[in-house]
Amino acid sequence: MKQPAVKYSIIVPMFNEEEVIGFTYDRLKQVMDGTGEPYELIFVNDGSRDRTVDAVSMICEFDPNVRLIDFSRNFGHQIAISAGMDYARGAAIVVIDADLQDPPEVILRMIAKWKEGYEVVYGKRVKRKGETAFKKLSAKLFYRTLRTLTNVDIPVDTGDFRLIDRKVCDVLRGLKEKNRFIRGLVSWIGFRQTMVEYEREERYAGETKYPLKKMIAFALDGITSFSYKPLKIASYVGFALSLTSFLYLVIVVFQKLFTGSTVPGWASIVAVNLLFNGIILMLLGLIGEYIGRIYDESKNRPLYIVRGTQGYADREKKRAE
Ligand code: UDP
Ligand code: MG
Repeated sequence: MKQPAVKYSIIVPMFNEEEVIGFTYDRLKQVMDGTGEPYELIFVNDGSRDRTVDAVSMICEFDPNVRLIDFSRNFGHQIAISAGMDYARGAAIVVIDADLQDPPEVILRMIAKWKEGYEVVYGKRVKRKGETAFKKLSAKLFYRTLRTLTNVDIPVDTGDFRLIDRKVCDVLRGLKEKNRFIRGLVSWIGFRQTMVEYEREERYAGETKYPLKKMIAFALDGITSFSYKPLKIASYVGFALSLTSFLYLVIVVFQKLFTGSTVPGWASIVAVNLLFNGIILMLLGLIGEYIGRIYDESKNRPLYIVRGTQGYADREKKRAE
């Protein structure tokens, strides 16, 4: 079967986005039609529990440039993006959120950079509108921490809104790790990278699909996939504690020998015990985070399960029959 030459693939991960998805489609279509080149919009439904699928399914019926990939359940944002990459056929691939926080018009600037010869063009958020102070602060802290802890050069204040060349997409698809932190992986693989700056808009409708719990899990994935420095905390803490206890021992021996005033200190023993137990449990938990990830990798389950797809491919098949 002859593959139609798609130039641009736009990947849109969706989780309960029924309020916004129609608008997103309209804006994307307008922008991409403007390029005058063949493109595809790949909507990945990440197990939405609302009517997101019905909305996209309807769009698929009349727009031959639209494709729907429907997951069997919620697998997570990063995995939805990975699935989109597996299905994308374009020479350049763009990942964009469904909620119009990343303005589709910025894609045109990304394409211009790509045509200059860059293989990765990421969007750098210079301003974030309508997000809580907590979200902004935690994002800022996270990106700074990530930078200090990891050896890869992950640019600060960037999300997954970016354009990647076909070559980069193929390399990414070859990285089979399960706990995927895509913006980190993209930096890790290298290539000629550049950025375009943009102002992050308010969410068009609906609410964030990243509650605190998901944000923490995401941050842990980011750090543990790229750094084992946190594991070293154990040795540093252990060293510092041994040193302190040694000094304390010297004091105790001194008191015993020269002053004779050794107080039976129940309170201090309990306090020290609690402190040490706390530290040990925390460090065990930290090691557990890494072991859990090793476990995830070793099970070798598929990254995602697709319930069905809809779009130009099956239409083509029908036409050929
Ligand atoms: N998303 C997803 N699966 C999830 C959570 C989020 O596909 O489990 C999608 C969501 O529909 C949106 C994008 O990921 O297109 C970013 O999510 P959101 O806008 O809620 O995050 P925020 O912008 O608040 O960080
Ligand atoms: Mg958003």
